[in-house]
Amino acid sequence: MSTQRGNASRQRAQKYKNTTAFKNTMHDKSDKTKMINSLQINDVCTRCKEVIAWKIKYKKYKPLTQLKTCVACGEKTVKRAYHVMCVKCGIKTGKCTKCCKSEEVVEVTVEEKPFKVDREMRFIIKELPERRRRTFNRYMEKKMEEKLSNEELKEDLLKKLEALKVDDKDDEDDDFGLSDGGESLECESSEDE
Ligand SMILES: [Zn+2]
Ligand SMILES: [Zn+2]
Repeated sequence: MSTQRGNASRQRAQKYKNTTAFKNTMHDKSDKTKMINSLQINDVCTRCKEVIAWKIKYKKYKPLTQLKTCVACGEKTVKRAYHVMCVKCGIKTGKCTKCCKSEEVVEVTVEEKPFKVDREMRFIIKELPERRRRTFNRYMEKKMEEKLSNEELKEDLLKKLEALKVDDKDDEDDDFGLSDGGESLECESSEDE
């Protein structure tokens, strides 16, 4: 796979080397520059990735101020500057979302990344009584089959967790109801005597 993260290093040696590496944060420590520097260049071919990386490095990168229309689906779904196709169409067509040509796309945005329970959720789950935890796990398994995006899934699961957390009263009642069975057994044994 040619999609190894951060493997954009070139093979041949650089002809001229600066004594100090160029840093675009040298005179500018603004949040915008920081944000741009932290951008991940996804769903593009190696060549387009280099172009965008160059723009970022030399402060030529201009983020979009509003969504752009995707050339594939025609909707205002393009969030990133210099890309002409949205992430979804990129995944669907398997093409570079900038030049729309190359099919050798580096670092595909992994929407299908398996959902992981994060720290926030794990904390809430830990606090739940055993039975509710099982209820939640069953619910989560079912939900994971509905092709939701991780974001939607998380939102839904958090809501479920909130609901499970809130009504403590009901749970106690349920437990009480379950222990009812014991009584009838006692009755039967007393009949034998
Ligand atoms: Zn699209
Ligand atoms: Zn490209």
